[in-house]
Parts: sequence; C-alpha cells; structure tokens
Amino acid sequence: MATTMKTSTKTSTTGAKAEAGVKVSSTSNNPKKETDKGATTAKLKAKADAAKDLQDLFEDGLKDILWAEKALLKALPKMEKNATSAKLKRAITQHIQETEVHVQRLEACFESIGKKAKTEKCDAMEGLIEEGESIMGETQSGPVRDAGIISAAQKVEHYEIATYGTLAAFAKVLEHEEALKLLLQTLKEEKKCDELLTSIADTNLNSKAE
Ligand code: FE
Ligand code: FE
Repeated sequence: MATTMKTSTKTSTTGAKAEAGVKVSSTSNNPKKETDKGATTAKLKAKADAAKDLQDLFEDGLKDILWAEKALLKALPKMEKNATSAKLKRAITQHIQETEVHVQRLEACFESIGKKAKTEKCDAMEGLIEEGESIMGETQSGPVRDAGIISAAQKVEHYEIATYGTLAAFAKVLEHEEALKLLLQTLKEEKKCDELLTSIADTNLNSKAE
C-alpha cells in the first residue's frame, strides 16, 4: 500500500518535519549574530510552500493522518498475528475494521472541503510503528509480548487522539461542519480503542502477576 501513496515534500509545522531542510543559525561561525541565544531558540525559516493559514495547516494535517491511517492498515495485522491474548487479538481485529472506516472518513473530509484526498508521509507515525515492530522482536511470544504490543498500540492511539482533537478544533474554527462531524466520530473510536486496550492491559498484567 505504501507504494501507492502519494507523498509530497510539503512541510507541516509539526516539530519533526519542521527540522527537515531548516537551517539553524549558529552563534559560533556567525559573529554578526552574537546576540542569538543559540540553536534552541533560533526562529525556523519556513519553506517556500509552508502553510500560510489555518486552512493550509488543516489540509496538511489531513494529509498527514491519512498517510498514518493507511500505514496502520499495514502494521496492525502484524500486531494481531503476534498477539496471543484472545481479547487483544479481537480488539486489534476490530480496530483494523475501524481504521478502514477512518480512511474513508478522511477521504470524505477532503471531499467536503472541495479538495482531492492526498497523503503526506507522517514521520511520527512511522516512528511509532517502527517502535512497535522492535518491541515485538525484543520479547518472547506470550503475555510479555502482548504487554509490549498494547503499549505500542496505545502510543499510536494517543497520537491519533491528539491529531483528531486538533483537526476537529481547526475544523470548528474554519466552520467545516461536515469535516468536524467526521473527525469527531473517528476521535470517539480512537478513544474507545485506547480504553479497551487499557482494560486488556490490566487483565494481562494481573494474570501475569498471579
Ligand atoms: Fe484511526
Ligand atoms: Fe486508531
């Protein structure tokens, strides 16, 4: 699926992406800038195609999370196969089905604002998925790997919750009523999934302790 995804080099304002291609002025080799407080406080220079307004930022955010949801459709089945708890397997299977709907809702969001659905690589989600894969590789199959899978999955859900919460807030300000409705529906499902994972984690850890 990744091969069919359209990516662009357009910069989002998220921290990870903002770093790419950005030059940070250094005080040591630039005597004129001695008053700079160093790299950490330097103002980032925006790219030529940087988001100009909230509408742009909203669309960039939609592209980002659409990439992320599609990447999850590839990653979640692997987590399901590696899980041993029947409850955890069921929860992941159910969330794969929900994730398919999340993709459709995002496509509908684009349509509702008169734009073509596009994806833009989400570095944060790529990292979270990679972390999940390494956790599976570093644990023995069973309750411990299950605990690792749950922790990785919850980090993913929290990222999604933060993203959908922000995008819903943007949609509200921008008065995109249809998009707002769709984003809130998905946000609710991400939160429910996170709660379910918490309850499975509690059961899993308790049974391990017994
Ligand atoms: Fe999702
Ligand atoms: Fe999710």
